[in-house]
Amino acid sequence: MKLLEERVLKEGNALNENILKVDGFINHQIDPELMQAIGEDFAEHFKDSGITKIVTIESSGIAPALMTAHAMHVPLLILKKSPSKVLNENMYQTIVTSYTKGTSYELTLASHLISERDHVLIIDDFLANGEAATGAIRLIRKAHATIAGVGILIEKSFQPGRAKLEEQGFSIYSQVRITKLDQGVIELMEQ
Ligand code: 5GP
Repeated sequence: MKLLEERVLKEGNALNENILKVDGFINHQIDPELMQAIGEDFAEHFKDSGITKIVTIESSGIAPALMTAHAMHVPLLILKKSPSKVLNENMYQTIVTSYTKGTSYELTLASHLISERDHVLIIDDFLANGEAATGAIRLIRKAHATIAGVGILIEKSFQPGRAKLEEQGFSIYSQVRITKLDQGVIELMEQ
């Protein structure tokens, strides 16, 4: 997606060969016009997929996922991160390990908000090792809902997330694909 590619190149801050900071327009301060364009682009890409719900992981995925849900006229479901391991029979729960942060968290979803009739689109800001997306997929499967695809704003294509998800047969659409990062260096894949 041209607009997001331009913003990443102009305002993204590559800290090292693994981490890109996008605090000025996605992760800390949010550009609502950009989010609207992102939502419309996902909606256009997945328009014939029969999607009934958008699912995202708190908190960075919420803004683009909400705009996608708005453009597709479906509800947004936010998977909540919680440090506790309290068992709750009304919740689907799974543990996700964040390699970026070196921590684990419990991802939770209230069971009454999703059913086997749902066909969902997962939206997240970054795809790196695919742990967050895989955790979301595990929860959605616990509810016997089906997955139409995964929409990502920024994919780090040199990390294994895409391959992991494609191996399981998922359709992934990334608006920006990064082939290389280094301090002050951002290289994109031609799309
Ligand atoms: P994964 O689970 O695919 O390894 O990582 C995805 C999650 O980690 C995303 O939801 C995002 O919050 C975070 N993340 C991974 N890589 C980056 C990065 O380079 N920059 C930022 N800002 N977040 C990242």
